[in-house]
Amino acid sequence: MATKLDGSADQLSALLVCDCAGTMSIDGAALGEALGGASPVKICSQLCRRELPVFEAALGAGPPPLVACTQEAPLFEEVAGEAGHGGLRFVNIRERAGWSSTGAAALPKMAALIKDAAFETQPTRLMSIASGGQCLVYGRGQAALDVAKQLAGRLSVSVLLLDAGDAMPLSVANVPVHTGKIRGAKGSLGGFELFIDAYGMVDPSARDAMRFDALRDGASTKCDLIFDMTGDAPLFIDGDGRDGYMRADPAHPAGLAEAMFKITDLIGEFEKPIYVSYNADICAHSRSGKIG
Ligand code: SF4
Repeated sequence: MATKLDGSADQLSALLVCDCAGTMSIDGAALGEALGGASPVKICSQLCRRELPVFEAALGAGPPPLVACTQEAPLFEEVAGEAGHGGLRFVNIRERAGWSSTGAAALPKMAALIKDAAFETQPTRLMSIASGGQCLVYGRGQAALDVAKQLAGRLSVSVLLLDAGDAMPLSVANVPVHTGKIRGAKGSLGGFELFIDAYGMVDPSARDAMRFDALRDGASTKCDLIFDMTGDAPLFIDGDGRDGYMRADPAHPAGLAEAMFKITDLIGEFEKPIYVSYNADICAHSRSGKIG
C-alpha cells in the first residue's frame, strides 16, 4: 500500500521548490505539468533565507511540505519543530539534477526525484510474539551439553543429542537430555513444533557413558527457541532467516559464543512486522497439498 504524488492542488501547494539563488534553471509551469498538475509550481529563490515566510506559511496549510532542498533540512526541521509541525520530507534536486551538466534539460529528472520522494509507503502491520525462553539445544556429544549448561542460566533449556558421542552422564540432571533426529520442524520464535525420530530419554543409571531408553519414531515437542549446533543442513528452507532459530558451527568457538549471546536475548514480548497475509482457502498450491 502506498500513496504517490498525483499532481493535485493540495500536493503541489505543499511542494516547495527553490532554484538556489538562480543557480538552477527551473521552469515552474513545465515542472507542474511533469508532475501531473494543471498549475505551475511556484519557484522560490532563497527559501532558506528571505523567503523563509513562504515555508512557514506552508506549515499546517495542508499536507506536510516536501522541500526540494536537503542542504538546509536542519533549518527547516527546526523552524517546523518550533511551530509544532513535523512530517517534513526533503529531496535533493540540486546536486542530483539542477547543478548537473544537463542544466535546464534535467527538469524531467527533477520531476522524477520529486515524485519518488513523495511516494509514501504505509507502515507495515505488526504482530506481538511472546517467547517464554524454552530453548532446545540440538547437537552432538559433550559440546552440546556444555552449551546447554551455559544457556541454562538465562533460558529454560533442554537438549536433543543427535549423537551422544563423548557426552558424559550429568552429575546433576539440571537440563533434560534426550536423543533423537529431527525429521521435520515448523513454526518460528515463540512457537516451534518439532517432529523427532529415534527419540529416547536418558537412562539415569548410566555410569560411564550416556545411554538412552528404548527409542521410538514419531515423537513431537514444542519450544520457543532452537539452538542448532549440529553443523548439518538447516532445519528450515529459509536457513538462518527464521526468528528464534539460531545455528552455530561447533568447530568455530567465536561464532558459537556469539550465537549463544544472541539467543539469550530472545525472551519476552516482541513486535514483528506482518509482510504477508496467507489464506489457505484461496491458495491453489495449498489445495493441491504443495508447499510453496
Ligand atoms: S540552500 Fe536550499 S533553500 Fe537555500 S537557497 Fe539554496 S536551494 Fe534554496
